[in-house]
Amino acid sequence: MPIQVLSDDLASRIAAGEVIERPASVVKELVENSLDANSTRIDVHIVGGGAQSITVVDNGQGIPADELSVAFERFATSKIDESSDLISIGTLGFRGEALPSISSVARVEAISKHIESDAGARYLVDFGKSNAVEPAGAPQGTRIEVVGLFKNVPARLKFLGSAGRELSRIQSMLASLALVYPHVAFSLSADGRERLRTIGSGKLVDAVSGVYGAKVADQMLELEPDDSTAFYVDGLISSPSLNRSNRTYMTISVNGRWIQSRRLSYAIEQACHGFLPERRFPIAVARINTPLGDVDANVHPAKAEVRFLREDLIYSVVQRAVRGVLSASAPVHELGAGRAAGSIGLLRAPGRTSDSTAAGSIDASPSLSPSQKSGFTQWPEPSTVVEQSILPDTDADLTGAAATSTPKETLPVLRVVGQAHETYILAEGPDGVYLVDQHAAHERVMFERVRERFDQNASESQPLLEPATIDIGPGSMSTVQEHLDELNRVGWGVEEFGTNSLIVRSVPASLATRASGDGAGQVFVRVLDELSEGGTGETWRNRMLATIACHSSVRAGQILSTDECKDLIRQLEKVERPNTCPHGRPTIIQLNMNDLEREFKRR
Ligand code: ADP
Ligand code: MG
Repeated sequence: MPIQVLSDDLASRIAAGEVIERPASVVKELVENSLDANSTRIDVHIVGGGAQSITVVDNGQGIPADELSVAFERFATSKIDESSDLISIGTLGFRGEALPSISSVARVEAISKHIESDAGARYLVDFGKSNAVEPAGAPQGTRIEVVGLFKNVPARLKFLGSAGRELSRIQSMLASLALVYPHVAFSLSADGRERLRTIGSGKLVDAVSGVYGAKVADQMLELEPDDSTAFYVDGLISSPSLNRSNRTYMTISVNGRWIQSRRLSYAIEQACHGFLPERRFPIAVARINTPLGDVDANVHPAKAEVRFLREDLIYSVVQRAVRGVLSASAPVHELGAGRAAGSIGLLRAPGRTSDSTAAGSIDASPSLSPSQKSGFTQWPEPSTVVEQSILPDTDADLTGAAATSTPKETLPVLRVVGQAHETYILAEGPDGVYLVDQHAAHERVMFERVRERFDQNASESQPLLEPATIDIGPGSMSTVQEHLDELNRVGWGVEEFGTNSLIVRSVPASLATRASGDGAGQVFVRVLDELSEGGTGETWRNRMLATIACHSSVRAGQILSTDECKDLIRQLEKVERPNTCPHGRPTIIQLNMNDLEREFKRR
């Protein structure tokens, strides 16, 4: 093909690809325009996750009728001109790319009335085809409706998630903007149902209440800004008893601008270390203030990444502010309190042998490779085999052996009674009755095993008989490339296969029996989903390993034979942290003897 200049239409569709990745990006661009127009109220309506329609209505300054069509031209902006200093731009948009990009991949109708004119105007651009501007009655402000997003770009349409998933991206993005702009009243409705509403009082705690509810707002602690320097941070963080299972509840702004920064979220996360359970995250709004010249916003066209001149300084300012308030609040941990009484009604322990309080748990079941069905001893460790051969195989003699073979951990010596609800292993121990969550327990076992292999660079990989082809989002491809070494090291064999597709040729060996063909692809997609959340070094590695462990583990609802139960308990005894799964859920709960006796009025 000879070299030729791209047509405007094609050029803007390519540009659209950079700015507009999904419905949430449209909402972000439109809402940022509304903010730049000094709106004090912004209402967003979504239908079908945004793929069907997105409407943003504001009460800002509006667009003059004679500029309405210009706003949709590429590089048309009212926000900078030749004399602007690109380093210290105060507005959110400034490239003049959003409206032309969106209108090249959707049907966009804009109705606006400028603050200084008496009448409004309407302008329609239908997948790049413009129409005449017409007069229209309208209140002051701008209303932009986007219908049929990506209808003319099937490749992109294919990569959208379900309506629910796209909606949740929109919601969490809008939540962040509402938190960063507490003086603006935001609302979001989806398919007619209200999802979020803030009152725009200017108080951050009111915005938190509108976004996360009044109960959450009540439990937020104030970061104390040390505003003696030009760099400081203020905002709110949840008290440690209130936490979440993912990072999407941390909102960060710099000089009033919402940003996404893995490094700064990580700084907050680190500062919470020791105050929150493993893998739990705070709800937080951190508003960072720096001298304007210290930030460069002109880095990424769509993602709200910024570059700091003195990143380490900001990192430590954030950490200090968060740690300061958490230490000051110093919560009392309630561990394991009052757990038994309420749960007693659930228990039906068949044939309880009342005197065998110290029964051994290493039940030396002779079969080390139980049925493939549950598969949790697929890869017995060499040490297991050795121990097996030196253990006597009667229950009574095992107590001592159990004690010596049980490493530093705190798991009590357990005797398996049976399985309940195909989900819990029922056992008795020295101080009562225990329920073990079979999935959580196995997940812990698999996690430590997979991690050890990974650390020793000894992970096994299992080729798939039929390699699986999977489609992944454009964002995920860079995650794969960035972490290819670690992915290979844990046993994934993947290759790029065209744009945004991958072939999975081999899988971590622990997954082999559980995930074949499409299954393997699905697990890989789950791993990427987890990882696209970000994180660095150790957290990244652990999350990848935890996802693999999860999918290598026996599930709830799976019938286990008594031998399999015993085997699982025996494996659990050997791990470093038997009491929780890698995600921090308990693996085991106890109904202690005293409580039982009291409940049965034995004393
Ligand atoms: P940018 O925001 O980078 O300037 P856009 O394509 O997003 O580019 O918007 C182009 C122009 O249209 C803006 O500079 C602004 O003048 C005008 N505009 C867009 N949306 C609004 C709005 N909601 N209210 C007032 N003016 C708007
Ligand atoms: Mg804009």
